[in-house]
Amino acid sequence: MSERSSLELLASSIRSVASPFRAYLGELHDRHRTLAEGTVADYIPELATARPEWFGVCAVSTSGQVFDVGDCDRLFTIQSISKAFVYGLALEDRGREAVNGKVGVEPTGDAFNAIVLDEATNRPFNPMVNAGAIATTDLIDGDGATGRLKRVLEMLRRYTGRHHDVDVPVFLSEKATGHRNRAMAYLMLNFGMMSDRVEETLDLYFQQCSILVTARDLAMMGATLANGGVNPVTGERALDERYVQDVVSVMLTCGMYDYSGEWAYRVGIPAKSGVGGGITAVVPGRLGIGTFSPLLDAKGNSARGIHVCEDLSRDFGLHQFNAARPERDLIRWMEGDDRTGAS
Ligand code: GLN
Repeated sequence: MSERSSLELLASSIRSVASPFRAYLGELHDRHRTLAEGTVADYIPELATARPEWFGVCAVSTSGQVFDVGDCDRLFTIQSISKAFVYGLALEDRGREAVNGKVGVEPTGDAFNAIVLDEATNRPFNPMVNAGAIATTDLIDGDGATGRLKRVLEMLRRYTGRHHDVDVPVFLSEKATGHRNRAMAYLMLNFGMMSDRVEETLDLYFQQCSILVTARDLAMMGATLANGGVNPVTGERALDERYVQDVVSVMLTCGMYDYSGEWAYRVGIPAKSGVGGGITAVVPGRLGIGTFSPLLDAKGNSARGIHVCEDLSRDFGLHQFNAARPERDLIRWMEGDDRTGAS
C-alpha cells in the first residue's frame, strides 16, 4: 500500500466513523416520520403555523457526544419544558423549603391548564402544570421585568451553551389569549400564594414559554441534568447539584401532564413536554434526549416524541426501574462515533 493511500484510508476512517447508535436513530426517525397521529396546537393562535412534517430527534451523552437526525436546528418555542428549568432556578433563588411552601410536588391527573389548587394548603399541585409554573415563576428573583427575564435566558444559556431569544409574536399571542392562566394567577393571589406583581409574573411566564429552542438544545438540557447539572460540552454548571434530583424527580412524576403515570410505567424516563412539540428526557448518568414534532395528542404531548422515547427506552433498557441487563448496551452502541452534532 502506498503512503498516500494508507493516509487517505486513515483520513476517511476518521471522517466517517459513525456509531451503530447513529444508524439506529436514523432508522427510528424514519419509522415514525410518517406517523400522522395528533394535531398542531392552535389554542395559542401563533402556534398553529407549525408544520406537521417537522421532526427532529437528538441525543447527547454525558460525555458530550451529540447524535442528531432530522429537524434538529429548527427553532420552536420551548413552552412547558421551561417549567422544569425555571423550577430549578427558583430552588436556587429561594431554597427548597420556601419553594415547597408555594408549590407542591404531587401529580394531579388533571389537564395542564386545570384551575385547581390543593384544598388544604391552597398550593398548586406541582410546578409542571400551569398553575404551579406560574407560582414558581413568581419566585424568580431579578431587577424588574427585564432583569428577571434576563436571568431566565441566562439560566437556559448555561444548559444549552448558546444564547436564546423570545419569539415575540408567540409571546404576544399568548399574552392576548391567556385568560385562563391569568385567572389562575389571580386565584393564587387571592389565596396569598402569589406576590402582587401578578401581571409582571404572567408576562415573564408567557415569555419563558416563548423562548426559542431546537431539538438539539432540548437534548443538551436533558444531558446537563443527566450529568448532575453540568453541561457536558461546555463544562459549565447550569444548576446547583443539590437541586438536580428535585427537578428530575418532578419530571418523572409530573412532566407529561395527565399522562405522567402511564409514561412512568411505559417509558420510565424523567421527561418534560411542551405544546410547541418538544420533549426533553433525562437518563441520569447517561444521556439527554430532545425530540421535536408539533403533532400533539389529546393531552398535549408530542405524539411522535412519545413513540421515540418508548422505543429508545425499550431497545436500550433505559426504564429507570429496569433491573434486567439490556439487550443493547447504550454506551457500546455510542462508542467509536467521531462525528459532531453538525450533520
Ligand atoms: N404557554 C403554554 C400555556 O400556558 C404552555 C402549555 C404547555 O406547553 N403545556 O398554556
